[in-house]
Amino acid sequence: MPTISEALTLMDYGPAPESPAIALDWLKGRPFGHFINGSFTKPGETFAVANPATGVELAQVTQGSDADVATAVAAARAAAKGWAKLSGGQRARYLYALARLMQKRERLFAVLESLDNGKPIRESRDIDVPLAVRHFYHHAGWAELVADEFPGHRPHGVCGQIIPWNFPLLMLAWKVAPALAAGNTVVLKPAEYTPLTALLFAELCIEAGLPKGVVNIVTGDGRTGAALVAAEVDKIAFTGSTDVGRIIRQATAGSGKALTLELGGKSPFIVFAEADLDAAVEGVVDAIWFNQGEVCCAGSRILVQEQVAETFTNRLKARMAKLRLGDPLDKSTDIGAVVHDSQLDRIRSIVDQAIAQGAVLHQAPLPNGPGSFCPPGLLTDLGAANIANTEEIFGPVVTLMSFRTPGEAVELANNTRYGLAASIWSENITTALDIAAQVKAGVVWINGTNLFDAGAPFGGMRESGFGREGAREGMLAYLTRDEAGGKERKAPDALSPLPAGPAGDAVDRTRKLYIGGAQKRPDGGYSYAVPGAQVPLGGRKDIRNAVEAAHKASGWSKVTGHNRAQVLYFLAENLSARARDFAPKDEVAQAIERAFYWAAWADKYDGKVHATASAHVTLALKEPFGVMGVVCPEEAPLLGFVSAVLPAIAMGNRVIAVPSQSNPVPALDLCQVFDTSDVPGGVVNIVSGPRGELTETLARHDDVAALWVFADKATCQSAEKLSAGNLKPVWIESRQRDWAGAAGQSREFLRKAVQVKTVWVPYGA
Ligand code: NDP
Repeated sequence: MPTISEALTLMDYGPAPESPAIALDWLKGRPFGHFINGSFTKPGETFAVANPATGVELAQVTQGSDADVATAVAAARAAAKGWAKLSGGQRARYLYALARLMQKRERLFAVLESLDNGKPIRESRDIDVPLAVRHFYHHAGWAELVADEFPGHRPHGVCGQIIPWNFPLLMLAWKVAPALAAGNTVVLKPAEYTPLTALLFAELCIEAGLPKGVVNIVTGDGRTGAALVAAEVDKIAFTGSTDVGRIIRQATAGSGKALTLELGGKSPFIVFAEADLDAAVEGVVDAIWFNQGEVCCAGSRILVQEQVAETFTNRLKARMAKLRLGDPLDKSTDIGAVVHDSQLDRIRSIVDQAIAQGAVLHQAPLPNGPGSFCPPGLLTDLGAANIANTEEIFGPVVTLMSFRTPGEAVELANNTRYGLAASIWSENITTALDIAAQVKAGVVWINGTNLFDAGAPFGGMRESGFGREGAREGMLAYLTRDEAGGKERKAPDALSPLPAGPAGDAVDRTRKLYIGGAQKRPDGGYSYAVPGAQVPLGGRKDIRNAVEAAHKASGWSKVTGHNRAQVLYFLAENLSARARDFAPKDEVAQAIERAFYWAAWADKYDGKVHATASAHVTLALKEPFGVMGVVCPEEAPLLGFVSAVLPAIAMGNRVIAVPSQSNPVPALDLCQVFDTSDVPGGVVNIVSGPRGELTETLARHDDVAALWVFADKATCQSAEKLSAGNLKPVWIESRQRDWAGAAGQSREFLRKAVQVKTVWVPYGA
């Protein structure tokens, strides 16, 4: 007879299976068509959707054709006016009804999701479905409040929404709920591997009596997604890989379609020596072994402080060995099946390459038998450049490296093209918040990881995309405002370069570029003539120099808003004192007022504290992008320049500004005002010249984090297209704005000058 303590060590989990019957019954005998205009279409050419844990087919689903997409978009278009016209309260009733119906079928949704995706039932039941329900409730509230809280805004119209396979129902909720709350209608394309919960959701739309055409669901693979991107929609919202995000950025460039992209990540998980190491080990479980690691914001790179690295690694290995891999429908399973064999192949391929590059893999052998299973894995002894540290594995395999100092931790954390999330573990609040401020990530969790809530904005920086989902910030992604109601801008006439001659010639009498706080001749040595003056003809090299100077001026982004306000007030005063030197005369008085106006904002565009999970303060901080390009309007050469450049620097950005091509003189003359107003060198850089070419250079530049273009259509279009390289957010406006009116100092300038960083700070003894 074993003793009690022996019995405790011998105890094992009994099976705790959830029955699939409820979901299999629902699926029985149905090939699925699309859900268009309030009902299911007849199935067309179908493909099989299988359970990744067994390989057994679950259903046949229709491959959406271009014509199917067009029909769905037409239905959404026809419904758009009526839906937008409903009062917020009326729309809210439908969203509440959807939330309640989803709650009533929680178990069916959870089982179906686990069958379709392979995720453990514990996760679909306790995380995916409750969060999806929460999203609909939260946004029912926004529907009610949208007119009060977002005055002057309107819905985009028809939104095309494309979602991935890792959180099929939750991503649907993240997309559909805010879109409907804001008054848009939608066409949603679920992922090819996991369309089933979306089709179940379609039934709820019928049951809730949602007006026909408000929600449409077209199933299919990437081709269906591409057709939706190309269709007559007003906005595309995409979650998925960075590669496809880039394709969509290019495809929508210049089309006038609004775009939000929630893309991949390679998020750091930083453990300081003073962290609660056991809690941090549990954190890793939630960071990378949750949902088989198929999580865009997974903490996939562990960085641990050197003095505790060995202890931490040992505890982590011990914990990893206890994770239970197996049947997703067993409630004791920690890790279910990877979504598809092709994903398993991808994981294996990256891990094999990582090993070939010197990494050591700690992982149980891959199980034999049917199903796409991948045991949890840990890669050690690898450098920062190892493929496992640079590529999104999207599987349950994490890398581990050590660091010595907080500075080194930040450097390693930011050594990636992504910027989705970060997790910081330290019992020292000063350290944790200091690092949170320095990591480049849209979401930061302190002593926690993978926390989500409809009331907290979620989204990335850098190549993790742009736009936010959830909370007030997410609502703004589904609303727009018509501020630039003027005429379409025309491209300025072509320039005629004037060659430089010997010293003392025309070039010396021309104005100069303004780079790094100094007046500089253009690299090419050419100028061009505008009425009454010769002005420098800047080119690619000058833009590159300006970007470098702007990067060096990083101190500007770190000083307080109060400091920046003082500098801007000083600038406004100096401009006022020198008013007589400036032209056009009819713009000067207003330009001075505008400078004072943006100075006033420098310390007031605050972040928010959101109500989310209990025992957490969830901060939504507004951070500058860093280095921005601003292509100023041709019209209003002084007022337009001041109105566009000053809000960007008031928010802490450093700017490379391209002034009006046909009259850059007022902007170039401002350099003397910048010089005498304590604006640090490199904060504002001015490069005049052919704006098409200069805009292209800014759009292509990987060290420019955001770009505003007030220019003709062709220039705007190419800016969007070329920005796909580093996926910088681009704000384009090809219609003229009334710079002298309220549109010249719209809050939109502030909003577009910052990116939101959500920081989750837990509390409690
Ligand atoms: P994709 O980015 O290809 O898929 C996301 C969605 O976009 C799916 O609905 C997909 O359709 C659709 N799609 C594919 N191609 C196009 C296109 N040209 N135009 C419009 N829509 C398109 O991700 P995958 O599913 O192929 O996964 C590949 C890798 O991407 C993963 O290994 C992972 O690394 C990463 N990934 C990242 C996610 C994230 O949230 N960050 C989510 C999913 C994947 P369909 O699936 O039907 O082909």
